[in-house]
Amino acid sequence: MAMSATRLIYCCACQDKVSARLTTGREVYPHRPDLHALPFWRHDACGGFVGCHHKTADRTRPLGCIPTPELKEARRHIHALLDPIWQSGRMSRRAIYAAISAELGWKYHTASLRSIEEARQVYRLIRRISAQA
Ligand SMILES: [Zn+2]
Repeated sequence: MAMSATRLIYCCACQDKVSARLTTGREVYPHRPDLHALPFWRHDACGGFVGCHHKTADRTRPLGCIPTPELKEARRHIHALLDPIWQSGRMSRRAIYAAISAELGWKYHTASLRSIEEARQVYRLIRRISAQA
């Protein structure tokens, strides 16, 4: 039997770097056969998990921190605000992310958001950037 891989990843629910275990979609999304073959990192203590950059050469590299269900919703909401701005061509995707990063002071990725407070700050920035575009 193969040794199970673990990796230190920030868990938003536990608010700390935790030892996450490499697993697959078969465990975390049992009702989604389309995801069964994909890699995920799971924090067994709280049940949180995060997907991976599975389309890249480093296919088990986590997408970001391990989100809470609440944070997952907040990220979906951010994409619902953000995506129409670049999809409409009013601003390029790169320009929006650069503008958000400049305001936050760190390189912004929605998967890196660690708390609802950060997500709220990003909602406000998107509204402001969108009003100026
Ligand atoms: Zn956790």
